[in-house]
Amino acid sequence: RFISLEGIDGSGKSTQSRRLAEHLRSLGRDPVLTREPGGAPGAEEIRRLLVEGDPDRWSPETEILLFTAARRDHLERTIRPALAADRDVITDRFADSTRVYQGATRGDLRALVDAIHADAIGVEPDLTLILDMDPEVALSRGLARNSGEDRFEEFGLPFQQKLRAGFHALAEEFPDRCILIDAQADPDTVAAAIAAAVDGA
Ligand code: C5P
Repeated sequence: RFISLEGIDGSGKSTQSRRLAEHLRSLGRDPVLTREPGGAPGAEEIRRLLVEGDPDRWSPETEILLFTAARRDHLERTIRPALAADRDVITDRFADSTRVYQGATRGDLRALVDAIHADAIGVEPDLTLILDMDPEVALSRGLARNSGEDRFEEFGLPFQQKLRAGFHALAEEFPDRCILIDAQADPDTVAAAIAAAVDGA
């Protein structure tokens, strides 16, 4: 199965992706744990273009193309081969991040995101776990990094609030595959909720 974890910066996606991989291994599965932007050598190179250097050097439209180029490489090199080998794929972010970050927050670019996605990617996860958290909680827990690789630094709380609302809207738009997970609970509780959602899906 193809499973994505989504959420605002600092919502615990990478920790919970690892915990879900451990859970599936405990069931005798052999999951591939991956992430976006990145997840394949070429896609990781594109990630560096996106997260390092002056964030304003790309227009929003160019940024969408770069995220999608990275996703196409990730799909070809990592996701499709794993699914073809009957392995589960757990990805920390997928196309929903582009819908929300680039589509919902920077003018009306969602139509462009959807058009490019339809032609260049064309697949959705079987299951999307949206880790829901108040951005102030993410900040107060120190989960949001201050490494320059994090848009908390770049845009602050109001941007993260918009993202959270964008993920809520997405859960309503794609109710068949999206499950909202309360990510403000302690990590063990969140991991258990995710495991239950995956086992029950
Ligand atoms: O999830 P991760 O921290 O690895 O993402 C790296 C950076 O890229 C973060 O600042 C995140 O907010 C940003 N990002 C983005 N648009 C996406 C995916 C990630 O701006 N579609």
